[in-house]
Amino acid sequence: MKAMKKSEAKVYKERLLAIRARMRGDVSALASAALEKNATSAGGMPIHMADAGTDNYEQEFSLSFMEKDEETLELIEAALERIEDGTYGACVSCEGKIPKTRLNAIPFTPNCVHCASQLESR
Ligand SMILES: [Zn+2]
Repeated sequence: MKAMKKSEAKVYKERLLAIRARMRGDVSALASAALEKNATSAGGMPIHMADAGTDNYEQEFSLSFMEKDEETLELIEAALERIEDGTYGACVSCEGKIPKTRLNAIPFTPNCVHCASQLESR
């Protein structure tokens, strides 16, 4: 089990709480934030190549997760429980470490990229 320290998980806890609040309340704020971001990156300065992938991913995710918010809220609750249990940051399937870049994009993801892609292809 490769969980992160509770002190590290605290940042993600705050993000999860923020996402949950946003999902329970004003979903349209999220939609406009994603669209604004889109407009900024299209017309503004080029994004660092290394960051570009993560950025797009995050944006896609922001737009797609509104369609299944019930499921997402459950994932958020589960992630908050994992933070309390001290198991956050570890993949629930293989117990491997979930990279922080992935957690930054999807703080409530229960799986590493490898397991997630296997689950999706089922
Ligand atoms: Zn895994």
